[in-house]
Amino acid sequence: MKVVLEHLTKQFPSRRKKGETVTAVNDFNFEIPDGKLIGLLGPSGCGKSTTLNLISGLEAPTSGRILFGDDDVTRLPPENRGVGLVFQNYALYPHLTVLENIMFPLQNIKGADRPTKPQMIERAKAAARLVQIDDLLSRKPSEMSGGQQQRVAIARALVKMPKVLLLDEPLSNLDARLRLQTREEIRRIQQETGITTVFVTHDQDEAMSISDMIVVMKSGILQQIGAPQEVYDDPVNLFVATFLGVPPINVFDGEVKNGRLYLGDQAVMDAPGVGGQKVAVGIRPEGFILDENGPLEVQLKRVEVMGRDTSVVSTHPASRNALIRSIIPARNKVDKGAAAVRFSLMPEKVFLFHADTEERIPVDAR
Ligand code: ADP
Ligand code: MG
Repeated sequence: MKVVLEHLTKQFPSRRKKGETVTAVNDFNFEIPDGKLIGLLGPSGCGKSTTLNLISGLEAPTSGRILFGDDDVTRLPPENRGVGLVFQNYALYPHLTVLENIMFPLQNIKGADRPTKPQMIERAKAAARLVQIDDLLSRKPSEMSGGQQQRVAIARALVKMPKVLLLDEPLSNLDARLRLQTREEIRRIQQETGITTVFVTHDQDEAMSISDMIVVMKSGILQQIGAPQEVYDDPVNLFVATFLGVPPINVFDGEVKNGRLYLGDQAVMDAPGVGGQKVAVGIRPEGFILDENGPLEVQLKRVEVMGRDTSVVSTHPASRNALIRSIIPARNKVDKGAAAVRFSLMPEKVFLFHADTEERIPVDAR
């Protein structure tokens, strides 16, 4: 089921007396293609949950429309939208078994659509099989791990065969290893069922790894939407560039003069087509090439061996961050005792941004 958001806006009155209205979601326009998994990504408070709640119908928009396929669902209550919801706090019923928890949404169906008891059990078991907890059906939630409980919550959201599955930070309560495992599971289930899914997270790694498309948000405003790799390789502004990537992008104050990019007094790269101006410069950690004749000289602080790669930690007067992190292949040996190291830069890993607006500045193809 395709989901379309049209000029979707949600304002809240301030929680403080006489405070300003909060625009949690500001004029969102985008389309979630049928059968895809979309990662809604942004820092805490940027409006991710509000967006999800608007799609589910738990919140009503201040203005704008939501369509499921060609149907306008903006005024439909949540129970009539055919959505499955999973939250960070899975809120299972403690006194019910796993099977009963999963069946619960079916028991709320009224009228002619209500399945018979054996049909309910069959469908609950099918949902449990999908999330691989079919051997735990008679347990109570307290007898299961956090990861297993979250699977029950997912099975419960799937049991009514929703048209759209909405997941709000579903892995936040799990430990690191389980998070990794469960996110792969969610991806597998989504691909097996083909259910259009919106996955909310503040964790860029999580969103990048399982999404067909990511939607990056900041302060209620959509920043960029695209395939994870596209957004990583071609960020529209400094915020997006900084938000994606581990270790994060290195940011410098630079200046373009006569078609050359300067960091301090070092001309580090050509910048064809860019007028003379102060710029913010983002350099991905993997964009540095160890090069004894390279144009960028940094002060070496330490070298961290990471097995496959080596992380070179350094400083530079033009760097906005206290430390610069460069990731180079382990076969490139760095003299750990050296005071300084020289790099050349991979042009496709260096982004220029307007010093004031922080919007990306296009550089002519080389
Ligand atoms: P996220 O899920 O990205 O952390 P939210 O969607 O929960 O962000 O919140 C977005 C903004 O809207 C925040 O500034 C938050 O304080 C505000 N907000 C959310 N819900 C309400 C509400 N019911 N009343 C007032 N403000 C709210
Ligand atoms: Mg939230």
